[in-house]
Amino acid sequence: MRFLLDIHELPRRAGEYRDYKLDLVLEEALGLDLISIGKGEAILVAVTATSVDEGVLIRGKIQGIARGDCARCLEPVVIDVDQSFDELFEYASKASALTDEEVDTDEILLVEEDDVDLSIPIRDAILLALPVNPLCDPDCPGLCSHCGVTLRDVDQYHSHDQQDQRWSALSALAEKLREGEKRDER
Ligand SMILES: [Zn+2]
Ligand SMILES: [Zn+2]
Repeated sequence: MRFLLDIHELPRRAGEYRDYKLDLVLEEALGLDLISIGKGEAILVAVTATSVDEGVLIRGKIQGIARGDCARCLEPVVIDVDQSFDELFEYASKASALTDEEVDTDEILLVEEDDVDLSIPIRDAILLALPVNPLCDPDCPGLCSHCGVTLRDVDQYHSHDQQDQRWSALSALAEKLREGEKRDER
């Protein structure tokens, strides 16, 4: 999925600028495994494009809503994405003066005819705005390691002592059975 911005109305004279607003619907989710702006969701990208000597400077701001799961308890997490980015797109004519090494770093974005391709800056800005470990609450207690219940939903004395006794009774029984089998084998 590419996000092309048509800047043909922007005079290519240093200092000239134009404002643009893009309403984009995502054809694929953007973000991380645990949290992303989903496929079909809209993002709003407000951009100021300014002509500079080397090319076009893009200052953008992305707004959208990311949804995902709490890394501890798997409850839904919603994050308002509001992330800025700055990116310089160079004129190919200027960039040709660059060494191969500089071009190879992939860090150079070029003005393509009338367009600038905002795909990489938008992707990167969304990644930057999202936490690797999203949490429903910074103090989320997570899930009970025994029964998987969401600890926030149960009282703080949630405990498995009783169940533990039952399990130890069972394992004692299993032990006896195994002993019995061993005896039979002899
Ligand atoms: Zn949580
Ligand atoms: Zn439990």
